[in-house]
Amino acid sequence: IYILGIESSCDDTSAAVICNGKILSNVVANQEIHTKYGGVVPELASRAHQQNIVPVIQQAIQQANIDKKDLNAIAFTRGPGLMGSLLVGTSFAKSLSLALDIPLIAVNHMQGHVLAHFIEDETQQKPPFPFLCLTISGGHTQIVKITNYFTMEVLGETIDDAVGEAYDKSAKILGLPYPGGPLVDKYAQLGNPKAFKFTKPKVDGLNFSFSGLKTGILYFIQKKVIENPNFIEENLNDICASIQYTIVEILFDKLKKAVKETGIKHIAIAGGVSANSEIRKVLKSTEERFGWNTYIPKFEFTTDNAAMIAIVGYLKYLENDFSDENTSATARLKVSEN
Ligand code: ATP
Ligand code: FE
Repeated sequence: IYILGIESSCDDTSAAVICNGKILSNVVANQEIHTKYGGVVPELASRAHQQNIVPVIQQAIQQANIDKKDLNAIAFTRGPGLMGSLLVGTSFAKSLSLALDIPLIAVNHMQGHVLAHFIEDETQQKPPFPFLCLTISGGHTQIVKITNYFTMEVLGETIDDAVGEAYDKSAKILGLPYPGGPLVDKYAQLGNPKAFKFTKPKVDGLNFSFSGLKTGILYFIQKKVIENPNFIEENLNDICASIQYTIVEILFDKLKKAVKETGIKHIAIAGGVSANSEIRKVLKSTEERFGWNTYIPKFEFTTDNAAMIAIVGYLKYLENDFSDENTSATARLKVSEN
């Protein structure tokens, strides 16, 4: 079964072809344009998707070494995301499904992040049900309980900023270009995580909060720069390591709590921030420390990509769960909504 996946929820245009759950191609076109503005500009994102979508899909089909007539279905991201961006992928998917006369499958982007673990790939292991997934991305920070492919329950989530935002905004304060998350990760590896201390938020239950941390970092840096204008340059590695240490502590405090409350010890991570080297390392270490079974996605399945959309499409295809032509893009969509 050949499935074409199309992802256009934010600022990456991506298309992938999978055959029986195995990847044949996974093409991602990043949009450089947003770097200049220090964040994603929705209007520019839609335009870039419009330009990229045809070549990206053609490349995906070509790299897969198939003909578009071989495709059995088209899966596309219907939400959540930026409306203008989602509309480009949705309209294109609908037209192509009409032209090829094959079924259309609407996919929830957040389910895509979680279910990327089920892409057939020798470098990753599939978690057994039920498992918990710490979904950490540019727009989400959640602990999700997954009972089966399409039964997902949010046990806790951020009440303000997402962890990806915390990374990117901290990076911006340090004068690093957008998206700064991967750079903070890179410099952090060279620094002392105990060099500076940032306050952790107090939030009830399994919920998270990251906006206080961002403000704390901003005030700290402002104060230090007044004392020494070269403070950031001289301490960049230590600052990044200390920020990362605090973020990792916040995440794992809640994850430990979730394991205690649910008794579930199969723990996965997903989303763009799950590319983070320290988070991956600390999660791995819980196998020995706490006896957890951990599931770390292949690097290329962490940030937005169409392979994760295609795998959800494949799982839905097996259940004959198709969408009709009235299905529409939805900017807001919970992970629990199919
Ligand atoms: P959502 O999936 O919630 O709609 P999104 O699709 O925009 O949001 P993703 O593409 O999943 O988000 O993730 C992007 C985020 O991941 C950015 O905030 C980026 O900085 C962050 N990120 C990527 N790599 C790393 C890393 N190594 N360390 C920390 N953050 C990272
Ligand atoms: Fe995403």
